[in-house]
Amino acid sequence: MCHTQHTKRTHLTQENRMVIEALREKGTTIRAIAVIIEVHYSTVSRELSRNRGSSGLYTAKFAQKACRLRRLRAKYDKRKIENDPVLAHTIEELLQGKHSRGDWSPAVIAHTLGLFCHQTIYTWVRQSRPDLRRLLPRCGKYRRSYGSSKRPSRGWTTKIRSITTRPQAVTDRTTVGHYEGDTVVLNRSNAILTVVDRKSKFLIAELINGGVGIAYAVHEALVTRLSVFPPTLRKSLTPDRGGEFAYWDMTETEIPGFTIYFAHPHSPWERGTNEHTNGLLRRYFPKGEKHDTITQAQVTEVVWMINHRPRKSLNWKTPCMVFGGCCSSN
Ligand SMILES: [Zn+2]
Repeated sequence: MCHTQHTKRTHLTQENRMVIEALREKGTTIRAIAVIIEVHYSTVSRELSRNRGSSGLYTAKFAQKACRLRRLRAKYDKRKIENDPVLAHTIEELLQGKHSRGDWSPAVIAHTLGLFCHQTIYTWVRQSRPDLRRLLPRCGKYRRSYGSSKRPSRGWTTKIRSITTRPQAVTDRTTVGHYEGDTVVLNRSNAILTVVDRKSKFLIAELINGGVGIAYAVHEALVTRLSVFPPTLRKSLTPDRGGEFAYWDMTETEIPGFTIYFAHPHSPWERGTNEHTNGLLRRYFPKGEKHDTITQAQVTEVVWMINHRPRKSLNWKTPCMVFGGCCSSN
């Protein structure tokens, strides 16, 4: 997971990690760090989000250890499939769609069979069972789409799921776990990804360092932030059709059981909760200001206030109380 096999170097050395740690301390952007150590932006972004210690701080020492452990486990998982004909057979059957194909992506299979990570299945197929390759989503091609190759920037909407196909439970706000999503643009290089629960109005917001890599950054942020919730608290997302959600299929693959429905173009009223909450956020980060020094800590602080303020529309409960997955400080 902390490495991929293609021509572009995505594997970080201990020295790279020390450079990242030092530059991060100085506040250097992810993009600038990527240029300095000559790797793709997404490699640094992923390194920072996945190999952080429990304090949330990035240190090279911890990251190296975490990465080695992850590689060992992935290796073990791959051997586990190779050495276990029953397991291999089960995976093959699942891939072959003895169950409905859409629901049994490698991510779901890995999760269900207790494998460490779905990349294991991709690696196993690629190295030991190339005949199964056609059964992988997009024939196993799309995981190399970031970093090295060009993913078509237009045309990504051709296979999206429309808001009109949302189940009733999403539409009528009976349960939590169904979100609306958007990005609030701050300046040329920063935006805030906002994800709002439709029922409880609970807000999740992540500072995104944008530019060309914004879609990937949004994907990473969604996976990182939503994966910590139990499946009942992360069921679906209805974003707008901005290109920043272009990696929606990859996001679905990496969050088992999560479905993304797209609102109609230019129809903000279809994501009313989101628009309203973005308005609340805007009070703290108004348009027309530079926001050059904004940090995730500041965003988190504002979000905390928004989530712990009683709302009339919630019968004077707080979003945190209705959502139920935030804290017990009510
Ligand atoms: Zn709370």
